Amino acid sequence: MKTLGLYIHLPFCKSKCLYCDFCSFPHPRLEVMEKYTARICEELAIWSERARDYTVDTVYFGGGTPTVMGGDRLSRMLETVTRHYTVARDAEITVECNPRTGNFAEFKTLRRAGFNRVSVGLQSTHPNELKRLGRGHSFDDFCATYDSLCCAGFENISVDVMSGIPEQTVESYMQTLARVCDLSPQHISAYGLIVEEGTPFAILESRGQLILPDEEEARQMYMDGAAYLENRGFGQYEISNFAKAGYESRHNVKYWNCEEYIGFGVAAYSDFCGARFGNSRDLDAYIKGESIECERDAISEAERQNEYVMLRMRLCEGISQTAFAKRFGAAAFMPFEKKLATYESSGLVCRRGDGLAFTREGMYVSNAILSDVLDF
Ligand code: SF4
Repeated sequence: MKTLGLYIHLPFCKSKCLYCDFCSFPHPRLEVMEKYTARICEELAIWSERARDYTVDTVYFGGGTPTVMGGDRLSRMLETVTRHYTVARDAEITVECNPRTGNFAEFKTLRRAGFNRVSVGLQSTHPNELKRLGRGHSFDDFCATYDSLCCAGFENISVDVMSGIPEQTVESYMQTLARVCDLSPQHISAYGLIVEEGTPFAILESRGQLILPDEEEARQMYMDGAAYLENRGFGQYEISNFAKAGYESRHNVKYWNCEEYIGFGVAAYSDFCGARFGNSRDLDAYIKGESIECERDAISEAERQNEYVMLRMRLCEGISQTAFAKRFGAAAFMPFEKKLATYESSGLVCRRGDGLAFTREGMYVSNAILSDVLDF
């Protein structure tokens, strides 16, 4: 049986962070969350017919802040998944969470319902950096949430941290990493801040009021941070992701391997049965069941090859020539190999196994290299 990932987008948050361009809505009303839950359950049931030949091996409740919705609604949605789909006994079932959303009793409800992995957003342990990001919590709030999750029986916890924050220094970033490692989670995601169009940060930047770490500091945060995490037992497996052995995010690896998934909820994307499609970003329309599917692309062979190179190169393993040839034929790899190999002499790309991968330096500048190598 083929395997499938399910992604469920829950777009509600307590407040809106200043850098956020995700599809998320602050201060949700209970009535709206209730209707949204019902709509998700309907959509899950409708799609299950087309997924009859698949075993679901990963389910990911992302956001937004899913835990804003409360343990009962989340459990109801997961119960709908298990009722309508064939779910593997050892499926990875993740829920995203932010500090100050949820308590021990709610987390216990989630654990009992079958959730077995939590991804918690921290970003920084420093009050000034959290304030600059517009995060509505402190490090103490995070620690209280983390403790409750552990007591509720979660043994697979990921923590999100961020580099490149206003007022952040290399030293303060390394302190954040050290404090997180001391808690001994199973997984750490360490993303660099990107100033996205349309966010309050973009407005501040355009006015010259957003002072970010400079390029050399940002590079040092990435390089020193990755080396430090590896020393503390978190192996790097992707540009921004680190895990103790066996705790790599199976759901996210599915994306980087170009495997199939269906997305549910507002603004969720799918790659299923050879097509890519997405839902509307309009919350009211989604709840009413209008314009659920807003875009549908049949993907050409050339696009698939480019996408495969782009996503696989995010992984430390890089691209295996044999695996590429199996999907697309041996000849198709040659143009990519030729272009990627030009970065070998500068130490940004290296030979790994029977293929190519980024070095850590290469990972830091991977966007620039890929925009040169790929043919979009
Ligand atoms: S918690 Fe996450 S999704 Fe919600 S506003 Fe902040 S960054 Fe965006």
